[in-house]
Amino acid sequence: MLRTHYSSEITEELNGKRVKVAGWVQEVKDLGGIKFVWIRDREGIVQVTAPKKKVPPEIFKLIPKLNSEDVVVVEGIVNFTPKAKLGFEIIPEKFEVISRAQAPLPLDPTGKVKAELDTRLDNRFMDVRNPKVMAIFKIRSNVFRAVREFFYNEGFIEIHTPKIIATATEGGTELFPMKYFENDAFLAQSPQLYKQIMMATGLDKVFEVAPIFRAEEHNTTRHLNEAWSIDAEMAFIENEEEVMDLLERLVVYTIKYVRENNEKELKILEFELEEPKQPFPRITYDKALEILADLGKEIPWGEDIDTEGEKLLGRYIKENEEADLYFIYKYPSEAKPFYIMKYDDKPEICRAFDLEYRGIEISSGGQREHRHEILVEQIKEKGLNPESFEFYLRAFRYGMPPHGGFGLGAERLIMRMLDIGNIREVILFPRDRRRLVP
Ligand code: ATP
Ligand code: MG
Ligand code: MG
Ligand code: MG
Repeated sequence: MLRTHYSSEITEELNGKRVKVAGWVQEVKDLGGIKFVWIRDREGIVQVTAPKKKVPPEIFKLIPKLNSEDVVVVEGIVNFTPKAKLGFEIIPEKFEVISRAQAPLPLDPTGKVKAELDTRLDNRFMDVRNPKVMAIFKIRSNVFRAVREFFYNEGFIEIHTPKIIATATEGGTELFPMKYFENDAFLAQSPQLYKQIMMATGLDKVFEVAPIFRAEEHNTTRHLNEAWSIDAEMAFIENEEEVMDLLERLVVYTIKYVRENNEKELKILEFELEEPKQPFPRITYDKALEILADLGKEIPWGEDIDTEGEKLLGRYIKENEEADLYFIYKYPSEAKPFYIMKYDDKPEICRAFDLEYRGIEISSGGQREHRHEILVEQIKEKGLNPESFEFYLRAFRYGMPPHGGFGLGAERLIMRMLDIGNIREVILFPRDRRRLVP
């Protein structure tokens, strides 16, 4: 490797030792007889100090010719001294420019000069050099790591279902059509039907982490056209609340994991990530409508709670229960998809839930209808044709246990966790209404 140490790995034991550091030139300062270079790597910054008398003349000559963001490799001796801003410096013996950066830069990677989101996304390679932006993606990496760890710890099996499909999950209009040789196909909007089919196999507890594709009609700050979904499905459940318990444990595990393993990044973001209050409040849809009515917002029974309603409710729950995360459950059957189980004794409501994080939905789930005849009826009720679901319905005719699960939007979770307003900030190359490149 061209480097022996990251900036953060240079500790006092290395005082007087030779190291090789590598990174991007952040700043150069020329005081005549002494010159300084600050080099940024993934983990922080190092200071290279070049006093005329102590360094080879060619290095002394090279430093003023450096451009911001040149890639350099420096070999030198570590010197711990209170005079250096970071507590130590490197006195260079070799100084190599590996790759030049043109000027002017498309944006300021230190973030001091603010750039438009579009400019940043067009130049994401440079935007991520900004430690605040990099911190988000380091946290994102740990979120996915925590999620996998959690599921493996809980005895779940990771599955991978097709992303090119023939049938809409919910007969929705949000599908991206594509040509599949002579046939029409779509990009998968959710692994829903496939993860349910897996419940007929005996795998019992499965999860999948994969992209979902949705041709969202509106450009919003919380919808992407390609997003990452964390999906789980489990068999032999007694009710939907067991699924809610699982989701709650997952979210708590993930937030705790980030709190414990991303202290440095949270500090860079100047963000205090609170441990969630448990148990998460669980309020029925009816109760939610009552609260909203009291707040002056009327929602006709049967309709989904809209963005404004969600926001109002989020604020209310925070004020009254001091909770950021809460469930809404016992939804009207008409507001939820055909595969959700209705209450046998009260079929106008069903075993679906949403998990909300400070006024924004981050997950939907529920207990599924596993009884073939009823499922067929529910498909028809939604105005869909059971024949186009035959590949799915087959799995319900040869022994299908009761089951349930959820889909959790990874970007939604991360944006709410870090209180970031725009979902585009938490995915490297967002796909929205206008963005297909880079
Ligand atoms: P919304 O009501 O916000 O449009 P939804 O109810 O349509 O979401 P679901 O079909 O329930 O979404 O999908 C499960 C989860 O996937 C959602 O709770 C959300 O976290 C995430 N999700 C859905 N659509 C998107 C999207 N377009 N971009 C990012 N995440 C999404
Ligand atoms: Mg939607
Ligand atoms: Mg929704
Ligand atoms: Mg939903």
